[in-house]
Amino acid sequence: MSAAAIERHGELEAYGASVAGCTRCQLAQGRSQVVFGAGNPQAELMFVGEAPGFHEDRQGVPFVGQAGKLLDRLLAGVGLRREDVYIANVLKCRPPGNRDPQPDEIEACEPHLFRQIELIEPTVIATLGNFATKLLSGRPLGITRVHGQEQALTIAGRSVLLYPLYHPAAALYTPAMLSVLESDFARLPGLLRAGSPAPLAPVPAAEREEPAAEAPAEQLGLF
Ligand code: URA
Repeated sequence: MSAAAIERHGELEAYGASVAGCTRCQLAQGRSQVVFGAGNPQAELMFVGEAPGFHEDRQGVPFVGQAGKLLDRLLAGVGLRREDVYIANVLKCRPPGNRDPQPDEIEACEPHLFRQIELIEPTVIATLGNFATKLLSGRPLGITRVHGQEQALTIAGRSVLLYPLYHPAAALYTPAMLSVLESDFARLPGLLRAGSPAPLAPVPAAEREEPAAEAPAEQLGLF
């Protein structure tokens, strides 16, 4: 490991420790603990989900419930383990009753995610579901429109390949969505080998419209 990587690892740990007491939004009041993120701090591949659910809030680790078990299976399907990647969420604290993240909560929490990206320096960021995809792409396009389509972007000052995927919780009980998720997942090793190409130009204002047909609500009360 290079000296720079050791330093970034230490900074990530210190940052995680500082976020443990975060009170930037109302979710601080109902959480058991902050779920900062887990995995390889030098991962080439980072996953970003939505928010901790019941089990994540209890254990302090992202994706440990049913959706997490499916994520583990999908990773194994492409020869990866949880320890090979880094997993985080848009929100670090569980919303009450697993409701959708609110815009003010996303805004309050987003510096934590951007700092994680800055310190981990992934080549590919796979966003799981609508909330992570919209936040990191900066576009309002829903996951049904953009899943499986990689985009070269500048995020946290670095060129990365953003790769939107269906959220595993949504795919759990929808076989058609699960097979799409599996085939999108199958492209991950190739994307990792290809690395990150040059970033695209900023999105023209005219394209920043919500499409008429949006994905169905994806948070299924499963977390
Ligand atoms: N568990 C998480 O950590 N994040 C999600 O988005 C869903 C389940």
